[in-house]
Amino acid sequence: MYDVAVIGAGIAGMEAASRLAQMGYEVLVVEKDGRAGGHVAGWDRLFPFQRNAANLAAEMLKMMDRGKAVKVLVNTTVADVQRDGQHFRIWLSDGQGVTVSAVLITTGFKLFDAHRKEEYGYGIYDNVTTSADLERMFASGKPVTTKKGERPQRVAFIHCVGSRDEKVNNRHCSKVCCATAVKQACEIKQMYPDAEVYCFYMDLRMFDRHFETMYLDAQTQYGVIFVRGRLSEAAESIDGRIAIKAEDTLMGKMLKISVDMVILMAGMEAAEETDKLAGMLKIAVGKDGFLNPVDEYLQGNFTREKGVFVAGACTGPKTVSETLADARAAAVSIDEYIRDGSEEKSLREEIIEKIRNKRVEIRNRRMKNEEGKSIEF
Ligand SMILES: Cc1cc2nc3c(=O)[nH]c(=O)nc-3n(C[C@H](O)[C@H](O)[C@H](O)COP(=O)(O)OP(=O)(O)OC[C@H]3O[C@@H](n4cnc5c(N)ncnc54)[C@H](O)[C@@H]3O)c2cc1C
Ligand code: SF4
Repeated sequence: MYDVAVIGAGIAGMEAASRLAQMGYEVLVVEKDGRAGGHVAGWDRLFPFQRNAANLAAEMLKMMDRGKAVKVLVNTTVADVQRDGQHFRIWLSDGQGVTVSAVLITTGFKLFDAHRKEEYGYGIYDNVTTSADLERMFASGKPVTTKKGERPQRVAFIHCVGSRDEKVNNRHCSKVCCATAVKQACEIKQMYPDAEVYCFYMDLRMFDRHFETMYLDAQTQYGVIFVRGRLSEAAESIDGRIAIKAEDTLMGKMLKISVDMVILMAGMEAAEETDKLAGMLKIAVGKDGFLNPVDEYLQGNFTREKGVFVAGACTGPKTVSETLADARAAAVSIDEYIRDGSEEKSLREEIIEKIRNKRVEIRNRRMKNEEGKSIEF
């Protein structure tokens, strides 16, 4: 029997599982993809400090496995859940059944499907791509080129694609895409110092402590050109370049420009099947599809269903550091819930004793590993 089931092995799920294991719990992590790491494992460098994303995810995976108290099942989903008194009985897609005391949802987000903004030409024009595609190009280590393999001389980043847009039913701001655009624009300039790089934005949301510096560096150090205006249309010319039309709302003028590549800053939406999972676990979903904690201020990881917790981007767009802080907070909430949750005093004491013994066992195991025994991954 596991103590906690974590659904989703992105950085939120891995961090929470790791912390719970350190606290002495046996954790089962259920991941629908073939590997842990979520979106971050596919990114190249992370703003604001250019941390290598794949290394971060790999490091977290190692940490999670350190005490052997976390079992990760990949290519697996939750088929059904039923409450059984103070426990949950979970049926997995592979037919297994497990019983746990608490469930943590960390299913994260899915990228807005840029095909839905047909007027921008994603999937129609060769040189219109998304920020996620560009991130993968950077991660591949190869130079960024146009479809024909040529070096781009002019690149335009289009902010707010599928976010802050009533037409696609997404009113929310995806929070991370302004910073991602600024980071990627600088990276293009590092790769091709002579290229002209434009960012078309509605307003820039560089909200965090170090983000304004990134923005200033983009202008002063890299010469990225920021244009306040929303793209109205993009069209491919015969040579494969993209002609874009936008209104420069600061100058009050229509702007027409031909570029070699257009990068769409696709926003974040709730992950697929989040609503299905919410239905099974009887927890609340917002109009925007993200999960609603019971109280954003005081109980950000609790849901209206006792024993069901949420963390990371499944409750709305978050940066990596916000996601990790949220996951740690969820682990603390779950620990408190399991230790204090049992109404029966004898049962509570039994749980506390079990956790205490597990903590000693994990510590001993870790010390053994540090003495030179190999750790299996
Ligand atoms: C293009 C782009 C670039 C970014 N760059 C940065 C950056 O440089 N710096 C920064 O701070 N932030 C960045 N972010 C934000 C960062 O990606 C998120 O903060 C982070 O991914 C959130 O982690 P998460 O674990 O909550 O969700 P995710 O990364 O989405 O992980 C969720 C996991 O749950 C799994 N899952 C989903 N549904 C199920 C299910 N039903 N059953 C089982 N498993 C499921 C998924 O497969 C996935 O492994 C970027 C975002 C985007 C879109
Ligand atoms: S972070 Fe910036 S690009 Fe992303 S939705 Fe918000 S305002 Fe638009």
